[in-house]
Amino acid sequence: MFIGHYGPSFAAKRVEPAVPLWILFIAVQLLDVFWGIFVLLGVERVRIVPGFTKTNALDLYYMPYTHSLPGALGWALVAGVAYLAASRSRRGGLLVGAAVFSHWPLDLLVHRPDLALYDNAAKVGLGLWDYPLVTLVIESALVLGGLGLCIANTRALKGSARYAMPLFICAALGLQAAMAFGPPPPSDDAMAVTALASYAILAGAIAWLEKAGVPGAKPNEPERPNGYSL
Ligand SMILES: [Zn+2]
Repeated sequence: MFIGHYGPSFAAKRVEPAVPLWILFIAVQLLDVFWGIFVLLGVERVRIVPGFTKTNALDLYYMPYTHSLPGALGWALVAGVAYLAASRSRRGGLLVGAAVFSHWPLDLLVHRPDLALYDNAAKVGLGLWDYPLVTLVIESALVLGGLGLCIANTRALKGSARYAMPLFICAALGLQAAMAFGPPPPSDDAMAVTALASYAILAGAIAWLEKAGVPGAKPNEPERPNGYSL
């Protein structure tokens, strides 16, 4: 799963507008960010096998540190506590932790059984990657649903961000469709670098959009009850 992971980040933004979207964007992909780094370091492993699933060529046979159930819970706890320590917001910490963990059940939907329940064993995965159209519909529904929730809350997104974000997300969905039906990556390292670059670009773009959406004001300032911000 790629773009669908961002659905929970928008939903979390609606619940707690004070958490910057770029942090939530990194949070929902944190397991994959470490996966990319660990693949480059040789700590976790992936094989490129053309035709392995109908959506991509990834044989994710060894990723116990990032994509096992205890691994996902551990990273969620660390990220939640780190955000709590930095922001002093208990609600923000909880949401960041939940956003990190949301990656695992969403991966569970699409992955082949490669998500370990412990260590590198008892692997689960519902395998929707073998149904590319179903996967694309689910990913689109997740991200557009989350975005809709976020836009419906005027405190969460303001100004031009409310109009630019749907366009941005549609462009990202188009990119995902192109990747799903395009050629497989040339190597495992190339896959890891592409994934890391995509997450960095999306987080950077969302930070810029969120800032640009509130001209001359802090992105998350409190709002008066009558709907006008200070
Ligand atoms: Zn993942």
